[in-house]
Amino acid sequence: METQVIGLHHVTAIAGDAKRNYDFYTKVLGMRFVKKTVNFDDPQTYHFYYGNYQAEPGTIWTFFPWGKAVPQGRRGTGQATEVGFSVPEGSLDFWLKRLDQHGVIYNKPANKFGEEYLTVLDPDGLKLELTVTSQKDNREANTTEDIKAEHGIKGFSGVTLTLNSIQATAEILTDLLDYKLEMEHVNRYRFVNPNSETASVIDLVEVPGERRGHVAGGSVHHVAFRVKDDAAQLALREKIESKGLNITPQIDRQYFHSLYFREPGGVLFEIATDNPGFTVDEPLETLGKSLKLPPQYEQHRSEIESVLVKL
Ligand code: ZN
Repeated sequence: METQVIGLHHVTAIAGDAKRNYDFYTKVLGMRFVKKTVNFDDPQTYHFYYGNYQAEPGTIWTFFPWGKAVPQGRRGTGQATEVGFSVPEGSLDFWLKRLDQHGVIYNKPANKFGEEYLTVLDPDGLKLELTVTSQKDNREANTTEDIKAEHGIKGFSGVTLTLNSIQATAEILTDLLDYKLEMEHVNRYRFVNPNSETASVIDLVEVPGERRGHVAGGSVHHVAFRVKDDAAQLALREKIESKGLNITPQIDRQYFHSLYFREPGGVLFEIATDNPGFTVDEPLETLGKSLKLPPQYEQHRSEIESVLVKL
């Protein structure tokens, strides 16, 4: 039975103000808004999905914008602390100018494992990286009036998890999720998934004395790995369970099917399927234009719409 993991499927984070989040990701960074829906566990709040034009797995960056009153999270161990996006070679000068124009906080370009990148803080203080990846990335960037394909964000490059000790997490990556340790420098260990050319990197950073992070506004909620279909997912579920980890049954998330388990380092992991995908309830051309609700909430649409912030 095929249990292959194909890099990242999506990454989900918590934000404060919904409109500020929407404006930053669609207007400043030029991502496509691919789905406007609600948190299925709390339908009075939004769930936003950003991605590339095709809304492909490996490009899907999602948010629970919990509103202005959300408590601020704290970066620390047991968390995904950096989220990396792939940008075209030669595009960093464009991004430096653009971030300046929009008053975005960033660091000057730096280099990690031979790849040049910019660290950028989103409006909630979440750390993003725009990386020129050494691996070829043929994904099509979303484009806007002022962000052309030669500059646009293509999707994830990878994520960094900060941990007190990397060993147990490294074993999950290598033994269950098909990753291989490829490089290390000081306390950063780079794992790469060989089944995908893109969204394939997980860096583990080991900081023994660091205190545990607090997951709230401006932090990552969970990291989802990609599998092709339900059969691959259920086979992987058995493998994960046989390691003695607690894993949920399959949950229908409307656009994919999910399993969740907490890895031993404290980060919430998800396994998500490619099927059925983001065009299951609206055509590709108009993704993200109208509020989509799962069938169980459709009868409450007017109530739900009345409490959600206008974008
Ligand atoms: Zn998820």
